Amino acid sequence: MEKKFVKEVTAMDEDFAQWYTDIVTKADLVDYSSVRGSMIIRPYGYALWENIKGALDRRIKETGHENVYMPLFIPESLLQREKDHIEGFAPEVAWVTHGGTEKLEERLCVRPTSEVLFCEHYKKIIHSFRDLPKLYNQWSNVVRWEKTTRPFLRTLEFLWQEGHTAHATDEDALEETVKMLNVYGEIAENYLAIPVIKGQKTEKEKFAGAKLTYTIESLMHDGKALQTATSHHFGDGFAKAFGIQYTDQNGELQYVHQTSWGFTTRVIGAMIMVHGDDRGLIIPPKVAPTEVMIIPVAQHKEGVLDHAYELKEKLSNTFRVGIDASDKKPGWKYNEYEMKGVPLRLEVGPKDIEKNQVVLVRRDTGEKLFVPNEELEVKITTLLEEIQQSLYDNAKKKMEAKTHVEKDYDSFKKTFKENQGFVKAMWCGDQACEEKIKEETGVTSRCIPFEQENLDENCVCCGRKAKHMVYWAKAY
Ligand SMILES: [Zn+2]
Repeated sequence: MEKKFVKEVTAMDEDFAQWYTDIVTKADLVDYSSVRGSMIIRPYGYALWENIKGALDRRIKETGHENVYMPLFIPESLLQREKDHIEGFAPEVAWVTHGGTEKLEERLCVRPTSEVLFCEHYKKIIHSFRDLPKLYNQWSNVVRWEKTTRPFLRTLEFLWQEGHTAHATDEDALEETVKMLNVYGEIAENYLAIPVIKGQKTEKEKFAGAKLTYTIESLMHDGKALQTATSHHFGDGFAKAFGIQYTDQNGELQYVHQTSWGFTTRVIGAMIMVHGDDRGLIIPPKVAPTEVMIIPVAQHKEGVLDHAYELKEKLSNTFRVGIDASDKKPGWKYNEYEMKGVPLRLEVGPKDIEKNQVVLVRRDTGEKLFVPNEELEVKITTLLEEIQQSLYDNAKKKMEAKTHVEKDYDSFKKTFKENQGFVKAMWCGDQACEEKIKEETGVTSRCIPFEQENLDENCVCCGRKAKHMVYWAKAY
Protein backbone atom coordinates (compact mmCIF):
# COMPACT_ATOMS: atom_id res chain seq x y z
CA MET A 1 0.00 0.00 0.00
CA GLU A 2 2.70 2.43 1.04
CA LYS A 3 4.75 1.58 -2.02
CA LYS A 4 1.83 2.07 -4.34
CA PHE A 5 1.17 5.55 -2.98
CA VAL A 6 4.69 6.66 -3.71
CA LYS A 7 4.55 5.16 -7.19
CA GLU A 8 1.74 7.50 -8.16
CA VAL A 9 4.33 10.24 -8.42
CA THR A 10 6.59 10.09 -11.46
CA ALA A 11 10.26 9.97 -10.43
CA MET A 12 11.77 13.41 -10.83
CA ASP A 13 14.85 12.27 -12.71
CA GLU A 14 12.72 10.23 -15.09
CA ASP A 15 10.36 13.00 -16.23
CA PHE A 16 10.76 16.24 -14.32
CA ALA A 17 7.82 18.00 -16.01
CA GLN A 18 5.46 15.16 -15.13
CA TRP A 19 6.86 14.99 -11.60
CA TYR A 20 6.05 18.69 -11.21
CA THR A 21 2.49 18.24 -12.46
CA ASP A 22 1.99 15.25 -10.14
CA ILE A 23 3.25 17.18 -7.13
CA VAL A 24 1.21 20.35 -7.56
CA THR A 25 -2.02 18.41 -7.88
CA LYS A 26 -1.40 15.56 -5.41
CA ALA A 27 -0.15 17.90 -2.69
CA ASP A 28 -3.46 19.80 -3.07
CA LEU A 29 -1.82 23.06 -4.08
CA VAL A 30 -3.87 23.65 -7.22
CA ASP A 31 -6.59 22.32 -9.44
CA TYR A 32 -7.16 23.02 -13.11
CA SER A 33 -10.11 25.20 -14.09
CA SER A 34 -12.30 25.10 -17.18
CA VAL A 35 -10.37 27.99 -18.74
CA ARG A 36 -7.17 26.72 -20.31
CA GLY A 37 -4.12 27.95 -18.45
CA SER A 38 -6.03 29.22 -15.42
CA MET A 39 -5.51 27.57 -12.07
CA ILE A 40 -7.48 27.24 -8.90
CA ILE A 41 -5.22 27.82 -5.91
CA ARG A 42 -6.54 25.44 -3.28
CA PRO A 43 -6.50 26.19 0.48
CA TYR A 44 -3.13 24.52 1.08
CA GLY A 45 -1.54 26.39 -1.83
CA TYR A 46 -3.18 29.64 -0.79
CA ALA A 47 -2.01 29.29 2.83
CA LEU A 48 1.52 28.90 1.48
CA TRP A 49 1.11 32.04 -0.65
CA GLU A 50 -0.30 33.94 2.34
CA ASN A 51 2.80 33.12 4.38
CA ILE A 52 5.13 34.26 1.59
CA LYS A 53 3.00 37.34 1.00
CA GLY A 54 2.96 38.15 4.72
CA ALA A 55 6.75 38.09 4.96
CA LEU A 56 7.19 40.23 1.84
CA ASP A 57 4.41 42.67 2.78
CA ARG A 58 6.13 43.33 6.12
CA ARG A 59 9.40 44.16 4.36
CA ILE A 60 7.62 46.36 1.79
CA LYS A 61 6.05 48.37 4.61
CA GLU A 62 9.26 48.46 6.66
CA THR A 63 11.01 50.01 3.65
CA GLY A 64 8.50 52.85 3.63
CA HIS A 65 5.91 51.78 1.06
CA GLU A 66 2.12 52.08 1.24
CA ASN A 67 -0.36 49.63 -0.23
CA VAL A 68 -2.94 50.90 -2.71
CA TYR A 69 -5.31 49.33 -5.21
CA MET A 70 -5.64 50.22 -8.88
CA PRO A 71 -8.48 49.22 -11.23
CA LEU A 72 -8.47 45.98 -13.24
CA PHE A 73 -9.13 47.68 -16.62
CA ILE A 74 -6.90 49.92 -18.69
CA PRO A 75 -8.30 51.95 -21.64
CA GLU A 76 -6.47 51.13 -24.88
CA SER A 77 -5.38 54.76 -25.42
CA LEU A 78 -3.74 54.83 -21.99
CA LEU A 79 -1.84 51.60 -22.55
CA GLN A 80 -0.50 52.97 -25.84
CA ARG A 81 1.02 56.08 -24.29
CA GLU A 82 4.48 54.52 -23.80
CA LYS A 83 5.64 52.94 -27.07
CA ASP A 84 8.09 50.24 -25.90
CA HIS A 85 5.75 49.21 -23.12
CA ILE A 86 2.77 48.52 -25.38
CA GLU A 87 4.97 46.75 -27.94
CA GLY A 88 6.25 44.44 -25.21
CA PHE A 89 2.84 43.56 -23.86
CA ALA A 90 0.52 43.74 -26.90
CA PRO A 91 0.87 40.05 -27.89
CA GLU A 92 -0.41 38.83 -24.54
CA VAL A 93 -3.10 41.32 -23.59
CA ALA A 94 -6.72 40.28 -23.03
CA TRP A 95 -9.33 42.77 -24.25
CA VAL A 96 -12.82 43.60 -23.07
CA THR A 97 -14.90 44.74 -26.03
CA HIS A 98 -18.45 44.61 -24.66
CA GLY A 99 -20.24 45.80 -21.55
CA GLY A 100 -23.30 43.59 -21.32
CA THR A 101 -24.70 43.60 -24.86
CA GLU A 102 -23.26 46.98 -25.85
CA LYS A 103 -20.04 47.35 -27.74
CA LEU A 104 -17.62 49.64 -25.92
CA GLU A 105 -16.47 52.81 -27.65
CA GLU A 106 -12.94 52.06 -26.53
CA ARG A 107 -11.54 48.62 -25.80
CA LEU A 108 -10.38 47.99 -22.25
CA CYS A 109 -7.44 45.78 -21.54
CA VAL A 110 -7.30 43.56 -18.49
CA ARG A 111 -4.15 44.76 -16.74
CA PRO A 112 -1.04 42.72 -17.63
CA THR A 113 0.83 45.08 -15.27
CA SER A 114 -0.16 48.51 -13.97
CA GLU A 115 2.58 51.02 -14.90
CA VAL A 116 0.27 53.20 -16.97
CA LEU A 117 -2.43 53.32 -14.28
CA PHE A 118 0.10 54.47 -11.70
CA CYS A 119 1.48 57.02 -14.17
CA GLU A 120 -1.95 58.49 -14.82
CA HIS A 121 -2.55 58.73 -11.08
CA TYR A 122 0.90 60.15 -10.31
CA LYS A 123 0.38 62.88 -12.88
CA LYS A 124 -2.65 63.99 -10.87
CA ILE A 125 -1.16 63.84 -7.39
CA ILE A 126 2.48 64.90 -7.86
CA HIS A 127 3.04 68.65 -8.17
CA SER A 128 5.92 69.66 -5.95
CA PHE A 129 9.19 68.21 -4.65
CA ARG A 130 7.29 67.93 -1.35
CA ASP A 131 5.11 65.21 -2.93
CA LEU A 132 8.15 63.00 -3.53
CA PRO A 133 8.99 60.24 -3.23
CA LYS A 134 5.75 58.35 -3.84
CA LEU A 135 6.26 54.79 -2.67
CA TYR A 136 3.19 52.72 -3.62
CA ASN A 137 2.63 48.99 -3.84
CA GLN A 138 -0.36 46.92 -4.81
CA TRP A 139 -1.27 43.26 -4.27
CA SER A 140 -3.38 42.09 -7.17
CA ASN A 141 -3.97 39.68 -10.01
CA VAL A 142 -2.85 40.31 -13.58
CA VAL A 143 -3.65 38.60 -16.88
CA ARG A 144 -1.24 37.65 -19.65
CA TRP A 145 -2.53 35.51 -22.50
CA GLU A 146 0.28 32.95 -22.52
CA LYS A 147 0.37 30.20 -25.14
CA THR A 148 1.91 27.46 -23.02
CA THR A 149 1.06 27.38 -19.38
CA ARG A 150 2.04 25.45 -16.24
CA PRO A 151 0.66 25.87 -12.73
CA PHE A 152 2.48 28.67 -10.83
CA LEU A 153 5.23 29.00 -13.47
CA ARG A 154 3.16 30.49 -16.25
CA THR A 155 -0.60 30.96 -16.09
CA LEU A 156 -3.06 33.27 -17.82
CA GLU A 157 -3.85 34.93 -14.54
CA PHE A 158 -1.51 35.11 -11.58
CA LEU A 159 -1.21 36.83 -8.22
CA TRP A 160 1.57 39.25 -7.39
CA GLN A 161 2.58 42.50 -5.88
CA GLU A 162 3.75 45.36 -8.04
CA GLY A 163 5.57 48.29 -6.51
CA HIS A 164 5.52 51.60 -8.39
CA THR A 165 7.53 54.52 -7.13
CA ALA A 166 8.29 58.08 -8.24
CA HIS A 167 11.41 60.00 -7.16
CA ALA A 168 12.95 63.43 -7.58
CA THR A 169 16.23 62.19 -9.07
CA ASP A 170 17.58 59.39 -11.18
CA GLU A 171 19.94 58.36 -8.35
CA ASP A 172 17.03 58.05 -5.91
CA ALA A 173 15.16 55.84 -8.37
CA LEU A 174 18.21 53.68 -8.95
CA GLU A 175 18.73 53.29 -5.21
CA GLU A 176 15.11 52.17 -4.85
CA THR A 177 15.51 49.62 -7.66
CA VAL A 178 18.49 48.06 -5.89
CA LYS A 179 16.85 48.21 -2.46
CA MET A 180 13.79 46.27 -3.60
CA LEU A 181 15.87 43.71 -5.49
CA ASN A 182 17.68 43.09 -2.22
CA VAL A 183 14.36 42.69 -0.39
CA TYR A 184 13.38 40.06 -2.96
CA GLY A 185 16.73 38.37 -2.44
CA GLU A 186 16.10 38.25 1.31
CA ILE A 187 12.67 36.69 0.90
CA ALA A 188 13.95 34.12 -1.60
CA GLU A 189 16.99 33.14 0.45
CA ASN A 190 15.81 33.55 4.06
CA TYR A 191 12.20 32.39 3.70
CA LEU A 192 12.05 30.16 0.64
CA ALA A 193 15.61 28.86 1.14
CA ILE A 194 16.33 29.48 -2.55
CA PRO A 195 19.84 30.78 -3.32
CA VAL A 196 19.81 33.50 -5.98
CA ILE A 197 22.16 35.22 -8.39
CA LYS A 198 21.61 38.98 -8.44
CA GLY A 199 22.34 40.97 -11.53
CA GLN A 200 21.21 43.10 -14.42
CA LYS A 201 19.27 41.92 -17.46
CA THR A 202 20.78 42.58 -20.87
CA GLU A 203 19.07 45.11 -23.19
CA LYS A 204 17.43 42.21 -25.00
CA GLU A 205 15.96 40.68 -21.84
CA LYS A 206 15.00 43.84 -19.93
CA PHE A 207 11.41 44.88 -19.18
CA ALA A 208 9.45 46.66 -21.90
CA GLY A 209 9.88 50.40 -21.30
CA ALA A 210 12.59 50.13 -18.64
CA LYS A 211 15.97 51.84 -18.66
CA LEU A 212 17.37 48.83 -16.85
CA THR A 213 16.06 45.69 -15.17
CA TYR A 214 17.61 43.96 -12.17
CA THR A 215 16.78 40.33 -11.50
CA ILE A 216 17.26 37.48 -9.08
CA GLU A 217 17.81 34.18 -10.88
CA SER A 218 17.71 30.74 -9.35
CA LEU A 219 18.45 27.22 -10.52
CA MET A 220 15.90 24.41 -10.45
CA HIS A 221 16.59 20.71 -9.78
CA ASP A 222 16.59 19.91 -13.51
CA GLY A 223 19.27 22.53 -14.18
CA LYS A 224 16.95 25.09 -15.78
CA ALA A 225 16.98 28.64 -14.49
CA LEU A 226 13.99 30.56 -13.22
CA GLN A 227 13.69 34.34 -13.14
CA THR A 228 12.48 34.63 -9.57
CA ALA A 229 11.73 38.37 -9.31
CA THR A 230 12.63 41.60 -11.10
CA SER A 231 13.07 45.27 -10.24
CA HIS A 232 13.02 47.95 -12.96
CA HIS A 233 14.51 51.41 -13.21
CA PHE A 234 12.51 53.57 -15.64
CA GLY A 235 14.49 56.78 -15.52
CA ASP A 236 12.16 59.52 -16.77
CA GLY A 237 10.86 57.60 -19.80
CA PHE A 238 7.35 57.03 -18.49
CA ALA A 239 7.31 60.49 -16.86
CA LYS A 240 7.92 62.10 -20.25
CA ALA A 241 5.30 59.94 -21.98
CA PHE A 242 2.73 60.82 -19.30
CA GLY A 243 3.86 64.34 -18.42
CA ILE A 244 4.56 63.64 -14.73
CA GLN A 245 6.38 66.75 -13.53
CA TYR A 246 7.07 68.49 -10.24
CA THR A 247 8.35 71.90 -9.24
CA ASP A 248 11.75 71.63 -7.57
CA GLN A 249 13.23 73.80 -4.75
CA ASN A 250 14.24 76.44 -7.30
CA GLY A 251 10.77 76.67 -8.75
CA GLU A 252 11.75 74.80 -11.91
CA LEU A 253 9.72 72.04 -13.55
CA GLN A 254 11.36 68.58 -13.51
CA TYR A 255 10.32 65.13 -14.62
CA VAL A 256 10.06 62.42 -11.94
CA HIS A 257 12.15 59.24 -12.07
CA GLN A 258 10.31 55.98 -11.61
CA THR A 259 10.70 52.32 -10.69
CA SER A 260 8.54 49.22 -10.61
CA TRP A 261 9.17 45.80 -9.11
CA GLY A 262 7.20 42.56 -8.98
CA PHE A 263 7.14 39.27 -7.10
CA THR A 264 4.61 36.61 -8.09
CA THR A 265 3.07 33.24 -7.25
CA ARG A 266 5.76 31.91 -9.59
CA VAL A 267 8.08 31.63 -6.59
CA ILE A 268 5.93 28.75 -5.37
CA GLY A 269 6.93 26.90 -8.55
CA ALA A 270 10.56 27.70 -7.80
CA MET A 271 10.23 26.46 -4.22
CA ILE A 272 8.74 23.17 -5.45
CA MET A 273 11.44 22.62 -8.09
CA VAL A 274 14.35 23.54 -5.82
CA HIS A 275 13.44 21.49 -2.73
CA GLY A 276 10.99 18.74 -3.72
CA ASP A 277 11.86 15.03 -4.02
CA ASP A 278 10.28 11.79 -5.20
CA ARG A 279 8.06 11.67 -2.13
CA GLY A 280 6.60 15.10 -2.77
CA LEU A 281 6.96 18.68 -1.64
CA ILE A 282 9.50 19.90 0.88
CA ILE A 283 8.39 23.26 2.26
CA PRO A 284 10.84 25.49 4.14
CA PRO A 285 9.54 25.86 7.73
CA LYS A 286 9.28 29.66 7.62
CA VAL A 287 6.58 29.57 4.94
CA ALA A 288 5.03 26.15 5.67
CA PRO A 289 1.26 26.33 6.29
CA THR A 290 1.81 23.57 8.87
CA GLU A 291 5.19 23.26 10.57
CA VAL A 292 4.37 20.23 12.70
CA MET A 293 1.78 17.57 11.88
CA ILE A 294 0.69 15.36 14.77
CA ILE A 295 -0.21 11.77 13.89
CA PRO A 296 -1.71 9.77 16.78
CA VAL A 297 -0.65 6.11 16.67
CA ALA A 298 -3.12 3.41 17.85
CA GLN A 299 -5.52 6.25 18.44
CA HIS A 300 -8.36 3.91 19.38
CA LYS A 301 -6.50 3.09 22.61
CA GLU A 302 -7.64 4.96 25.67
CA GLY A 303 -6.02 8.35 26.26
CA VAL A 304 -4.11 8.57 22.98
CA LEU A 305 -6.35 11.08 21.22
CA ASP A 306 -6.81 13.21 24.33
CA HIS A 307 -3.06 13.32 24.77
CA ALA A 308 -2.52 14.20 21.09
CA TYR A 309 -5.01 17.07 21.25
CA GLU A 310 -3.39 18.36 24.45
CA LEU A 311 -0.05 18.40 22.66
CA LYS A 312 -1.59 20.27 19.76
CA GLU A 313 -3.03 22.92 22.02
CA LYS A 314 0.23 23.39 23.87
CA LEU A 315 2.42 23.54 20.75
CA SER A 316 0.02 25.85 18.91
CA ASN A 317 1.15 28.70 21.14
CA THR A 318 4.51 28.64 19.37
CA PHE A 319 4.14 26.77 16.08
CA ARG A 320 1.70 26.20 13.21
CA VAL A 321 0.46 22.74 14.21
CA GLY A 322 -1.94 20.32 12.58
CA ILE A 323 -3.37 17.01 13.74
CA ASP A 324 -4.79 14.19 11.66
CA ALA A 325 -7.13 12.16 13.85
CA SER A 326 -9.05 10.71 10.89
CA ASP A 327 -9.61 6.94 10.73
CA LYS A 328 -6.99 6.48 8.00
CA LYS A 329 -3.99 4.26 8.74
CA PRO A 330 -0.88 5.98 10.17
CA GLY A 331 1.16 4.78 7.15
CA TRP A 332 -1.26 6.55 4.79
CA LYS A 333 -1.02 9.70 6.87
CA TYR A 334 2.80 9.61 6.89
CA ASN A 335 2.79 9.52 3.09
CA GLU A 336 0.18 12.21 2.84
CA TYR A 337 2.12 14.78 4.90
CA GLU A 338 5.38 13.86 3.27
CA MET A 339 3.66 14.61 -0.03
CA LYS A 340 2.54 17.94 1.39
CA GLY A 341 6.06 18.74 2.54
CA VAL A 342 5.25 19.38 6.22
CA PRO A 343 8.70 19.94 7.81
CA LEU A 344 8.13 17.84 10.96
CA ARG A 345 5.91 14.89 11.75
CA LEU A 346 5.12 14.17 15.37
CA GLU A 347 4.05 10.61 16.18
CA VAL A 348 2.61 9.73 19.55
CA GLY A 349 1.20 6.38 20.69
CA PRO A 350 0.56 4.49 23.95
CA LYS A 351 4.22 3.50 24.39
CA ASP A 352 5.40 7.07 23.92
CA ILE A 353 2.85 8.33 26.42
CA GLU A 354 4.14 5.76 28.90
CA LYS A 355 7.72 6.91 28.33
CA ASN A 356 6.75 10.58 28.44
CA GLN A 357 8.11 11.20 24.95
CA VAL A 358 7.15 11.71 21.31
CA VAL A 359 8.73 10.75 18.00
CA LEU A 360 9.73 13.53 15.60
CA VAL A 361 10.51 12.79 11.95
CA ARG A 362 12.18 15.31 9.65
CA ARG A 363 10.66 15.60 6.17
CA ASP A 364 13.93 16.68 4.53
CA THR A 365 16.22 13.91 5.81
CA GLY A 366 13.79 11.30 7.17
CA GLU A 367 15.72 11.37 10.46
CA LYS A 368 13.73 10.03 13.40
CA LEU A 369 14.21 11.43 16.93
CA PHE A 370 12.80 10.38 20.28
CA VAL A 371 12.20 13.52 22.29
CA PRO A 372 11.22 13.77 25.99
CA ASN A 373 8.08 15.88 26.46
CA GLU A 374 9.83 18.50 28.60
CA GLU A 375 12.32 19.24 25.80
CA LEU A 376 9.76 19.26 23.01
CA GLU A 377 9.32 22.99 22.32
CA VAL A 378 13.05 23.70 22.40
CA LYS A 379 13.77 20.71 20.17
CA ILE A 380 11.13 21.66 17.62
CA THR A 381 12.45 25.23 17.48
CA THR A 382 15.99 24.00 16.87
CA LEU A 383 14.92 21.42 14.30
CA LEU A 384 12.87 23.91 12.28
CA GLU A 385 15.83 26.27 12.17
CA GLU A 386 18.12 23.43 11.16
CA ILE A 387 15.78 22.31 8.39
CA GLN A 388 15.45 25.86 7.07
CA GLN A 389 19.23 26.28 6.97
CA SER A 390 19.96 22.86 5.57
CA LEU A 391 17.47 23.31 2.69
CA TYR A 392 19.27 26.51 1.75
CA ASP A 393 22.72 24.96 2.09
CA ASN A 394 21.80 21.95 -0.02
CA ALA A 395 20.21 24.08 -2.71
CA LYS A 396 23.30 26.25 -2.79
CA LYS A 397 25.59 23.24 -3.09
CA LYS A 398 23.48 21.87 -5.94
CA MET A 399 23.52 25.21 -7.71
CA GLU A 400 27.29 25.46 -7.39
CA ALA A 401 27.76 21.91 -8.66
CA LYS A 402 25.66 22.80 -11.71
CA THR A 403 27.48 26.04 -12.45
CA HIS A 404 30.21 25.74 -15.10
CA VAL A 405 32.75 28.08 -16.59
CA GLU A 406 33.13 28.05 -20.38
CA LYS A 407 35.70 29.91 -22.45
CA ASP A 408 35.18 28.61 -25.99
CA TYR A 409 32.01 28.25 -27.97
CA ASP A 410 32.24 24.55 -28.86
CA SER A 411 32.63 23.55 -25.30
CA PHE A 412 29.85 26.00 -24.31
CA LYS A 413 27.49 24.24 -26.72
CA LYS A 414 28.64 20.81 -25.58
CA THR A 415 27.93 21.65 -21.95
CA PHE A 416 24.36 22.59 -22.73
CA LYS A 417 23.88 19.52 -24.86
CA GLU A 418 25.05 17.19 -22.10
CA ASN A 419 23.87 18.76 -18.91
CA GLN A 420 22.00 21.83 -17.98
CA GLY A 421 22.74 24.42 -15.38
CA PHE A 422 24.31 27.82 -15.24
CA VAL A 423 27.25 28.59 -17.44
CA LYS A 424 29.40 31.57 -16.58
CA ALA A 425 30.98 32.95 -19.74
CA MET A 426 32.29 36.24 -21.08
CA TRP A 427 30.29 38.35 -23.54
CA CYS A 428 31.19 41.23 -25.83
CA GLY A 429 27.93 43.07 -25.20
CA ASP A 430 26.72 42.65 -28.79
CA GLN A 431 23.11 41.53 -29.09
CA ALA A 432 24.01 39.55 -32.22
CA CYS A 433 26.03 37.10 -30.10
CA GLU A 434 23.21 36.80 -27.60
CA GLU A 435 20.78 36.01 -30.41
CA LYS A 436 23.12 33.54 -32.04
CA ILE A 437 23.55 31.68 -28.75
CA LYS A 438 19.80 31.56 -28.22
CA GLU A 439 19.15 30.33 -31.74
CA GLU A 440 21.83 27.64 -31.71
CA THR A 441 21.48 26.34 -28.17
CA GLY A 442 18.14 27.54 -26.77
CA VAL A 443 20.10 29.23 -24.01
CA THR A 444 19.38 32.79 -22.87
CA SER A 445 21.41 35.30 -20.93
CA ARG A 446 20.02 35.21 -17.40
CA CYS A 447 21.87 38.22 -16.04
CA ILE A 448 25.07 40.21 -15.87
CA PRO A 449 25.78 39.44 -12.21
CA PHE A 450 26.73 42.25 -9.83
CA GLU A 451 29.63 40.05 -8.74
CA GLN A 452 31.72 40.10 -11.89
CA GLU A 453 34.67 37.78 -12.54
CA ASN A 454 37.19 38.22 -15.29
CA LEU A 455 37.21 34.67 -16.68
CA ASP A 456 38.74 35.50 -20.04
CA GLU A 457 39.62 38.41 -22.31
CA ASN A 458 37.29 37.38 -25.11
CA CYS A 459 33.59 36.85 -25.84
CA VAL A 460 32.68 33.15 -25.68
CA CYS A 461 30.71 33.46 -28.91
CA CYS A 462 32.60 35.77 -31.30
CA GLY A 463 36.05 36.00 -29.74
CA ARG A 464 36.07 39.79 -29.74
CA LYS A 465 36.97 41.72 -26.59
CA ALA A 466 34.60 40.85 -23.73
CA LYS A 467 32.71 43.43 -21.70
CA HIS A 468 30.88 41.39 -19.06
CA MET A 469 30.66 38.01 -17.46
CA VAL A 470 27.16 36.65 -17.99
CA TYR A 471 25.16 33.78 -16.46
CA TRP A 472 23.64 31.71 -19.26
CA ALA A 473 21.03 28.97 -18.96
CA LYS A 474 17.97 27.35 -20.39
CA ALA A 475 15.10 28.91 -18.55
CA TYR A 476 11.47 28.43 -17.53
ZN1 LIG B 1 30.47 38.41 -28.96
